[in-house]
Amino acid sequence: MNQHVRARTPASVSIVGAGIAGTWQALLFAEAGCDVTVHERGNAAMTDSTGHWAGGMLAPFCESETAEPLITRLGLRSLDLWRDALPETPFNGSLVVAHGRDRADFARFGERATGHKRIGAKEIAELEPDLDGRFHDGLYFAREGHVDPRQVVPALHDKLRTAGVTIEFNSEASPDDLDGVVLDCRGIGGRDACPELRGVKGEVAIVETNEIALSRPVRLIHPRWSLYVVPRANHRFLIGATTIESEDRGVSVRSALELLTAAYSVHPAFGEARIVDFGAALRPAFPDNLPRVVAGNRSITVNGLYRHGFLLAPALAEVTVAHVLGTSTDAEVVRCA
Ligand SMILES: Cc1cc2nc3c(=O)[nH]c(=O)nc-3n(C[C@H](O)[C@H](O)[C@H](O)COP(=O)(O)OP(=O)(O)OC[C@H]3O[C@@H](n4cnc5c(N)ncnc54)[C@H](O)[C@@H]3O)c2cc1C
Repeated sequence: MNQHVRARTPASVSIVGAGIAGTWQALLFAEAGCDVTVHERGNAAMTDSTGHWAGGMLAPFCESETAEPLITRLGLRSLDLWRDALPETPFNGSLVVAHGRDRADFARFGERATGHKRIGAKEIAELEPDLDGRFHDGLYFAREGHVDPRQVVPALHDKLRTAGVTIEFNSEASPDDLDGVVLDCRGIGGRDACPELRGVKGEVAIVETNEIALSRPVRLIHPRWSLYVVPRANHRFLIGATTIESEDRGVSVRSALELLTAAYSVHPAFGEARIVDFGAALRPAFPDNLPRVVAGNRSITVNGLYRHGFLLAPALAEVTVAHVLGTSTDAEVVRCA
């Protein structure tokens, strides 16, 4: 690090929000040599965060079907940062499948998305033995990964403590009231600082069954409800997720039917699964659905991670640290208030 850079390294950094955005900011600022304190209004279980209900897929290639190139660029960088920070993160790919009648939608997905290999029934069965005979065509995204948000966020919090970061739970804070360099990572709770921010509802179900095992996220292409099943520990599966322009936090009957029908359509064994949880959360999104690092007079806002918080948080933290240290500014992401 040269003298110029060292001169701009802030002595202390306060972060408001210990969700996936704030947690990665804390990690990379601590690694840059700053004294970091994180304020989180919820408790250590993080049940109030949007991330609590997330699928946790690290899927820049699947997401390239609909997302802007910026998401792919930041997402690819994040995969490296996840590997460096938590080498045990599973990177065994994702699988996209469709039933024969939905061939047109499947073909369209394959044309728009990048980073996949077209596979047939035999290769699908090799990857996921329990799906043997259920699908003729699939897309295998070999380089993608996934995390369980309910495990990985506490694991990252442990890592923060080891790095000397102070995390204060049950500590509601206002970025304007804190001194020094302040990062506002409040997600949908930060709307007072970002009036353009909106919440986009995502509903999920968590089910439990030992009649089927999967090793990776499986996305089912369907003309009305393209949904996914993500394997979790202890025979659990997250089935998600709807994307609804609503800030209501309830799970509708229609969504519940669609989520469970999608899982049943991936494999009938899900029909016998036990429902463990149903829930919904609001994805924080700007009008263009792209993330922003907004450098204001009193604080820097990192928000709008929308449906890609786990995918983007590491790269966004790297961008923020580089901007604050004065090494570089990513003009596609960093804005002035
Ligand atoms: C159903 C669903 C599925 C998803 N699946 C995926 C996926 O597969 N992959 C992916 O990458 N992303 C996914 N996402 C998106 C991801 O969950 C979000 O982008 C991410 O959680 C946003 O992170 P955040 O840290 O900005 O916000 P949050 O996770 O909401 O964290 C913000 C934190 O700030 C705290 N806070 C708020 N106000 C204050 C205050 N005044 N003082 C102190 N603390 C405060 C809150 O309590 C909260 O813990 C999904 C989202 C949903 C809803």
